[in-house]
Amino acid sequence: MANTIPYKIYLEESEMPLAWYNLRADMKNKPAPLLNPGTLQPMTAAELSGVFCGDLVEQELDDTTPYIEIPEEIRDFYKMYRPAPLVRAYCLEKKLGTPAKIYYKFEGNNTSGSHKLNSAIAQAYYAKKQGLKGVTTETGAGQWGTALSMACAYLGLDCKVYMVKCSYEQKPFRREVMRTYGASVTPSPSNETAVGRKILAEHPDTTGSLGCAISEAVEVATTTPGYRYVLGSVLNQVLLHQSIIGLETKAAMDKYGVKPDVIIGCAGGGSNLGGLISPFMGEKLRGEADYRFIAVEPASCPSFTRGKFAYDFCDTGMVCPLAKMYTLGCGFIPSANHAGGLRYHGMSPVLSQLYADGLMEAVTVEQTKVFEAAEQFARIEGILPAPESSHAIRVAIDEALRCKETGEEKTILFGLTGTGYFDMVAYEKFHDGTMTDYIPTDAEIAESLSKLPKTE
Ligand SMILES: *Cc1c(COP(=O)(O)O)cnc(C)c1O
Repeated sequence: MANTIPYKIYLEESEMPLAWYNLRADMKNKPAPLLNPGTLQPMTAAELSGVFCGDLVEQELDDTTPYIEIPEEIRDFYKMYRPAPLVRAYCLEKKLGTPAKIYYKFEGNNTSGSHKLNSAIAQAYYAKKQGLKGVTTETGAGQWGTALSMACAYLGLDCKVYMVKCSYEQKPFRREVMRTYGASVTPSPSNETAVGRKILAEHPDTTGSLGCAISEAVEVATTTPGYRYVLGSVLNQVLLHQSIIGLETKAAMDKYGVKPDVIIGCAGGGSNLGGLISPFMGEKLRGEADYRFIAVEPASCPSFTRGKFAYDFCDTGMVCPLAKMYTLGCGFIPSANHAGGLRYHGMSPVLSQLYADGLMEAVTVEQTKVFEAAEQFARIEGILPAPESSHAIRVAIDEALRCKETGEEKTILFGLTGTGYFDMVAYEKFHDGTMTDYIPTDAEIAESLSKLPKTE
């Protein structure tokens, strides 16, 4: 594929990619198409354009173009915080006494605090380009809502965020950051939408869920002129935008002649992991190199490891298209796990297909073990990691400790997706010893999976 690129793909002076890489172009088995929940036929561009803006519909459906140019306006925005640092964790290596080399790509060096800004600015840009007034979205832990509010403020777009009610109440500072950037923030479920009113009538005491907030945001986008819906993970277009993480990482590693043996990332909807592994997985798919890829998920929300590869709704209100993915069922509400960004019931269709084809692995980790790793990392590497990111840290440390036993000098690369300043209540519970590790039973997962939509 490399010799078919019509233009340079890196800005020479800074290693900033000039194009995103579309991993789907190199996949033999393409991810399954989104289905219209009414007709069970693949969603057409015309149907999707009621929900998403035109350029993003095109990116969502494009399984063949390997490189898609990053518009200059988006690159200008990226320059404020990219290239993101690729750090060799010398201090952690020394502390662990491992012969392994550990590298991490740090995506927390922007005010929103995570990698989500990479796709937020792209989605907001295309909405603006289409002449829209604004966008709607959901947010769980608040990182996506914050990133999108920043991007919308920069471009002068209106931003309506439906925030899962329990986060809205527990994370007032996240809410205020979004309002500082000019977004309106509504606790979900709300009385503003038909789907919200219906959920409230059935469950008056509910504290909300991500799937429920998605239903509300989609309803508002599709019934308000000049608005479209945007989503922070799972979709093909989001993985495409996040490929910038992997492209920068690969450019830096190639420059110094370093080749990772194992690449690790936490997986909520799969966007950071998909972005980090994209160019490396591309090489593996084309037979040019081999790597081990490990997705890390919380034991409380184990989509890959205990879910089913099947068509399911992307939301609880069952108004969104069906996606074929590893899912725990769209009604699955994970128990309190502080890594809010990893609580989604489904997984990116691209990563789901790669996992089904045996091209990557997945493991689960328990919450208290994750926070032990987070604390260890914070004390030695100087960064206070987000709970989500700390899932990857846990597995990277375990891998490095295994190398210590075997004497292997492996090169480990992991994605450090963000910072944890807004997650101090979770850290507090860990320090106070009140944090629990809840793992759903087989019966609970089977019950949720028994309600998957019938598509055959
Ligand atoms: C949202 C989020 C995640 C998980 O989302 P993915 O789409 O799976 O990447 C991980 N880390 C942080 C810091 C997040 O905000």
